[in-house]
Amino acid sequence: TIGMLALDQKGDISGACTTSGLAYKMHGRVGDSPIIGAGMYCDNEIGGAVATGMGELVMKTLGSFLVVELMNQGLSPQKAVEEAIARIVKKIPGYQDFQIGYLAINKAGEVGAYSLHKGFNYALYANDNNQLIDSDYYLK
Ligand code: ASP
Repeated sequence: TIGMLALDQKGDISGACTTSGLAYKMHGRVGDSPIIGAGMYCDNEIGGAVATGMGELVMKTLGSFLVVELMNQGLSPQKAVEEAIARIVKKIPGYQDFQIGYLAINKAGEVGAYSLHKGFNYALYANDNNQLIDSDYYLK
């Protein structure tokens, strides 16, 4: 999945994601990416979130909506993505076999990133500066 979140100069938030789905997927499988609230969700009063990895785990927890709703309840983007990963760990047996990564941004331009396994990185463009950042992860 390629997921993208943007906060423009007016403070408006947008997001998008695109995917080829999984290799060897069952014919007709619909992953998380085209499901608003699962692979991507934005609320312009709160923030946005995108997900990558095994879509079934994201769909079962409505992950991107969960991240945005947690920010709505006052969590920082980083705490919100960590809680969304914790929800997968708590609810889905066998989660260790899959990778999930979340990105989030809020109206203040704060960002968060977290994954189940090592190896999830993302590009951050802010203040005329481009960075490639390795996210923190759960399974250390
Ligand atoms: N999230 C996608 C899916 O489950 C896979 C990916 O990360 O591209 O369809």
